[in-house]
Parts: sequence; structure tokens; C-alpha cells
Amino acid sequence: MSGNPFETSLKTLHEAAAIGQINAEVVRLLEQPKRQFEFTIPVRMDDGHLEIFQAFRVHYCDALGQVKNGVRVVPDMDMDTAKALGFWMTIKHAVGGIPAGGGKGGIKADPSKLSRREYEALIRGFIRYLPMKGTWVDVPGADIGTHGQTQSWMLDELEAIQGFHSPAAINDKPIEANGTELSREATGTGAFFVTREVTRDLGIPDAASFAVQGYGNVGRVAAELLCQRGHKLVAVSDIFGGIENQDGIDVNALGAYVDEYKTVKGFPGCRDITPSELLEVPCDILLPAAVQSVIHEGNAGKIQAKLIMECANGPTTPEAEKILESRGVIIVPDVLVNCGSAIVCSFERTQGLTDSYWDRETVRSRLEERIVKAYQQTAAVAKELGVSYRDAAWVNALRKIEKAMLVRGWAWDQPK
Ligand code: NAD
Repeated sequence: MSGNPFETSLKTLHEAAAIGQINAEVVRLLEQPKRQFEFTIPVRMDDGHLEIFQAFRVHYCDALGQVKNGVRVVPDMDMDTAKALGFWMTIKHAVGGIPAGGGKGGIKADPSKLSRREYEALIRGFIRYLPMKGTWVDVPGADIGTHGQTQSWMLDELEAIQGFHSPAAINDKPIEANGTELSREATGTGAFFVTREVTRDLGIPDAASFAVQGYGNVGRVAAELLCQRGHKLVAVSDIFGGIENQDGIDVNALGAYVDEYKTVKGFPGCRDITPSELLEVPCDILLPAAVQSVIHEGNAGKIQAKLIMECANGPTTPEAEKILESRGVIIVPDVLVNCGSAIVCSFERTQGLTDSYWDRETVRSRLEERIVKAYQQTAAVAKELGVSYRDAAWVNALRKIEKAMLVRGWAWDQPK
């Protein structure tokens, strides 16, 4: 997200609300977070001095259920970022048919400069001083700077405060701390299911070629599943560089290479390319799965793919989207393509609440069912209103939130 991320989110809200003729009171309620907290976490550092860290948590909207989602630990964390991301999670949960509201937060800190003891104290402090928390209020998950270990500390701290177990109160936990199967692969697997559905609807053949920018958790899982379906991987990049082979890249051999060398760069039998050249290689489907704003005004005219599946958050700038749309390139938006982890996090919560833990195949098939339905709803709205998948996904989400706010009496129905 460029500029002020929260203002960018509000702009998207107003555009989608106008297209979907969303109730004006609902829009006003969505223009600001329901609750926001700014608090401090004192930590006694290893050298004996007291450091005081700034922390943020936004409960953006809980019309669909208790808020959930990530805690980000980065040096430039601020309230506007928490508000923007909390709002995005509100939309993503609604798109994915998840009975949860959107939350986000974080700590202004650089984890790489903290010892393990200092980091544990900081994360436990986040839970200790978070003003409203627990299973039915706010379920923190992982984000940049947080992971299975931090989530286990959060769970342990919360349970120590409460005096009883609460596995449904924290997300993204390891299996050993009442986590869920498929947690790591959820987003790439969900992106694969959505790609499969879109290509079927658009008549793109199973053997169509694709390129992936970013070969981490999301990009690699999606690429491996697409190859299993018969698609041809022709180019891959990561932060260190990229590779291209129009005859096809062996995804299993590439996986073994990446496990050993921690990069795709130098994989034998391919032409070296840069991460930005990857976006312009000849291919049918492009999966940006690295960072935001990589498809911009400067390269949108050179992209050869017919279909862009936004695996990363915000990879396409609004200016680039206009250029691509005028060229007939179809973009499937991040809030739909990458909502697989949000769906599996909601399964993690369900499993914790019911004290019954599902096997991998059960989680996978329930993810498939939920994300395919989310895609079908979005496609139906796109057809009904004659709009892009992005506008349709947002309108679909806003309609669900609107219904919940109206029945709860938060907003009154009125002539639109
Ligand atoms: P990751 O850290 O596992 O992998 C990121 C990959 O992108 C790595 O291969 C890295 O080398 C590469 N990369 C980084 N900067 C790059 C650049 N400038 N050019 C080319 N490649 C670059 O991250 P991930 O979990 O796979 O997430 C990828 C994207 O998906 C991120 O935008 C993330 O916000 C988004 N996302 C992830 C999840 C999830 O569950 N992991 C959920 C929703 C959205």
C-alpha cells in the first residue's frame, strides 16, 4: 500500500460501497475502527536497563464475530498500519465466509535486535497489557515478526492470566500447542483452488503456463499444486534473482534445490532473469507472491499474462490495474486469492473450541469447500453487476457486513 495505508483503504471502501449501493450508515460505521488501543510494554533488557515499547491493537469491526488476526513486530509499526490492516482483515473474513471480524496490531520493535529472553518478555507483555482479550473478543495471530513460538508464548501467558486453558484464543500456534494441520500451506493451497476455479470458468486449459514471483510459503505451495494439475511452470523468482525456461521447470527438482541453496537463483537448465523481468515473461497466468506494488504504471503495459492471481497483498497499483483492464488482463484480487490462511485460522479456532482436532485431509477439503464458495459468490456478483473480480469481492464482503449490521440494529435500513 502506498501513501497513508488507512486512507487508501477508505478510498477502496467508498468506491465499492458506491458500486454495491451499500447503506450509508454501514459505510459510516466502517469509516473508523470500533475500538483501538495504544499501550506500552515495559521490558527489563539483558543489560539491566528498562526499555518501554509502543504497542497497538485495532478491533476494526466485529459485526460478523470476534475480531481475529495478526500481531506484527516491526520497527515502523504505527496505528495507521494497524487500522488499515484491521480493515483489510474485516473485508477478507467477509469474502472468505469466515464468522469473524477484522483485527490487527503490533509492536514497534526490531526482533533481530532482541535476545530470546527479551523477545519472550515483549510478546508476553503484549498479551498481559492488551486491554481486551480472550476467545470471544480478540484472537491474535501471527504476522511479520511473529510465528509459532511467539503464538505459543501468547497462549501460555493468556492461560496463566485466566487460570484455564483457552486454545481458541490464539491463532497460528504449532500443532504441539493445539494448532491446526495445513497452517503453513493454507494460503498457497487456497490460491491453487481459486486459480483452478477461475481457469475452468475462463476456459484456460489445464496445461496453461505460469510464472511465480516469490518462492516462499505461498508461491512455492501454489506452484507445486499447479504443476501437479498439469500446468507448466516457466519462470520463478525470489529476492535474490530469477530463472526462466519456456520448456518448463521441474518443480520437484526446484524444490530440492531451494531446500539446499535457499534460493531459486542458479537452478540448472534455466536462463537467469531479474525479479522484475519475471513479471514480463511470456506466460498465461502470473502469480505475484512476494511483496506489494510490484505491478505498476511502468510495467503494466509489458505484462504478457492473461490472468493475474494476486497471492501477495496489494501487488497491483490502482494505476496499473487500469492499464491491465484496458488490455483485457483479468486480475483476481488478494482478498480472495490469499484468504486461505484466514479460513484455516478460523478452523484452528473451531478445533480449539470443540477440543477435537482434524486430520490434514479434513482441513484441506473444508478449505476447498469454503474458498470455492467464496470464489463462486464473487464471480456471481461480478456477473450481476458487470464489474471486475476486485470490485465484486469487496461488494460481496460489504453486503455481508451490511446484513449483519442491519439485523443487529447498528444501522437502519433506508432507501438506497
Ligand atoms: P515468504 O517470506 O515465505 O516468501 C516471500 C518470497 O518472496 C521469498 O521467496 C522472497 O525471497 C521473495 N521476495 C521478497 N521480496 C521480493 C522481491 N522484491 N522480488 C521478488 N521476490 C521477493 O512470504 P509468504 O508467506 O510466502 O508471503 C508472500 C506474500 O503473501 C506476502 O505479500 C504476504 O503478505 C502474502 N500473504 C501471505 C500469507 C501467508 O499465510 N503466508 C497470507 C496472506 C498473504
